[in-house]
Amino acid sequence: MGIATDTTRRAGVSWMNMLIMGPQASGKGTQASIIAKRLGIPHLASGDMFRNELRSESELGQKLKQKIDAGILIDDETTWELVKANLEKHPEGWILDGFPRTPKQAEMLDNYGVPNRVVALKVPDEICVERIAGRRICKICGHDYHIKYKPPKVEGKCDLDDGQLVQRDDDNEDAVRNRLLQYHELTAPLLKHYRDVLVVINGNQGIEDVRKEIEEKLEL
Ligand code: AMP
Repeated sequence: MGIATDTTRRAGVSWMNMLIMGPQASGKGTQASIIAKRLGIPHLASGDMFRNELRSESELGQKLKQKIDAGILIDDETTWELVKANLEKHPEGWILDGFPRTPKQAEMLDNYGVPNRVVALKVPDEICVERIAGRRICKICGHDYHIKYKPPKVEGKCDLDDGQLVQRDDDNEDAVRNRLLQYHELTAPLLKHYRDVLVVINGNQGIEDVRKEIEEKLEL
């Protein structure tokens, strides 16, 4: 099943509403931005949307800071409002990362537009915990790195804007365990809901190998 052809695009069929799912640090963000570039669609990450609210110190950001730092899920209505506003800016399609995470969120998205491809990255929990320990983000723009697997050109500095690289406040052990638990309880069961459009990928490989497996299975 090819993902998009000129004919389907011309016919006005949107073949570009994709989800990428998987536990924390499974590589969703990294792979989503590769796919996004390849297909010319935006990579929209609900976590980035929330972190933008924190960085800009908006009223919403200030209200949610404690929960986000503790790795606690934000309520479905607030999350959907933020995500929907971002989806509406991109009628050409998108790859969505970090949403949906609950059955209610999946229902909200279905009512808006059913995704036509869902990529699920499989990675064991202990690998995720190890990856999270090495994860860093830029204090200015939020771009993410890994000290071993995706290092910046200059240690401690963002390649894009020279910003200082720091650990996310929610990348501490308690918050990580919370987030993995939530993933298995609430989010992983959603994969069944998407079984007809689901592509399962072994995320426990290097970035390049994961990219290749995705491209092969999605026929990109
Ligand atoms: P992430 O970068 O995807 O790990 O998200 C960081 C934090 O943002 C999460 O721990 C939640 O507090 C919040 N968040 C992101 N996406 C969602 C979502 N779909 N539903 C609820 N909260 C979310």
